[in-house]
Amino acid sequence: MSDDIAHVVDDTARTTELRAPIAVLAELTHRCPLQCPYCSNPLNLEKANAELTTDDWKRVMTEAAALGVLQIHFSGGEPTLRKDLDDLIRHGCKIGLYTNLITSGVLINQARLDSLGEAGLDHLQLSFQDAEPENANRIGNHKNGQAKKLELAHMVRAAGMPLTINAVVHRQNLDNLSAMIDLASELGADRLEVAHVQYYGWALKNRPSLMPTRAQLDRATEMVEAARLRLKGHMVIDYVVPDYYARRPKKCMDGWGRHFFNVSPAGKVLPCHAAESIEGMVFDSVRENSVGWIWENSPAFNKFRGTSWMPEPCKSCDRREIDFGGCRCQAFALTGEAGNTDPACELSPFHSQMFDAAVADAATGEPDYVYRRIGGTTAG
Ligand code: SF4
Ligand code: SF4
Repeated sequence: MSDDIAHVVDDTARTTELRAPIAVLAELTHRCPLQCPYCSNPLNLEKANAELTTDDWKRVMTEAAALGVLQIHFSGGEPTLRKDLDDLIRHGCKIGLYTNLITSGVLINQARLDSLGEAGLDHLQLSFQDAEPENANRIGNHKNGQAKKLELAHMVRAAGMPLTINAVVHRQNLDNLSAMIDLASELGADRLEVAHVQYYGWALKNRPSLMPTRAQLDRATEMVEAARLRLKGHMVIDYVVPDYYARRPKKCMDGWGRHFFNVSPAGKVLPCHAAESIEGMVFDSVRENSVGWIWENSPAFNKFRGTSWMPEPCKSCDRREIDFGGCRCQAFALTGEAGNTDPACELSPFHSQMFDAAVADAATGEPDYVYRRIGGTTAG
């Protein structure tokens, strides 16, 4: 299937545009040595014995490539906890996929990096919790995580491998954003992704501890704009703004079931990494169906694909094919109905309620958060 061929799925007088996906996020495991309180993994984390096997993952990759996928992002949890990661990277390269590793970095020493490189890894994305070591280690709940990350960043650059640094920002580290930008630049990152926390799952649970104030957000935005000018030609900076202070929603996942899908550690195929937070929605598994069948036929993918599902005000809005009504997970989390307009849009009847919640959360002190953890939670 090619990207320019629009298929028509018309089973209930509902016409839906279907395109080839271009990228897959392969969540190899939910296990992780860190416990970030904003983790985008679901609250009910999968245990190791539920994970797909090496052969399952290889089949998923082959089916994804046949469907048109060009890039695979190995993620988690911490994907390097999988002993078969090199084998999976090798398979991805063999079938022509661009391979990216999204990692916390704390488990990769020189020997492991060498073996990932020998397997054919094209790109590495390394997350930082802060520039300030003590706060970084507190947020990730790891006693020397920051030192390990710095070591890895130097090793990646010495190996000549492209490096992106991910900085997830929130009220507890946003005042150090300038230092985070400097750190990424000094480490020689090609790209820095400054992403404000998106409030689903663990982050929603910890929202009062993480929500920035409007003034913090405005300062951060100015800082990013100035750094983009200063570092032009040296480092690209992507910036993901927080929805809670927005007037229009983000084009979440570039539209539901349009270009991307996510495979969970246990094999569920999801339109986005947070989709399991939508209660009552059933996601098909690669254990029972092929990736191609799921992409085209899964009721979960077709439910919000395109624009025909939209209620007002999206239905008659001229931005409906620009932002596709925003984020379904956020609509569910804040209104109890995934099919509602994303409350980040000021045309949504829930918008002012969302904005008020942001202001109220940001005004709280520093309440304890819970760390993300398989089988329960620990206090921060
Ligand atoms: S956000 Fe933190 S806890 Fe979650 S997978 Fe990444 S490093 Fe691990
Ligand atoms: S009404 Fe819907 S389509 Fe229009 S801007 Fe808001 S979310 Fe987007």
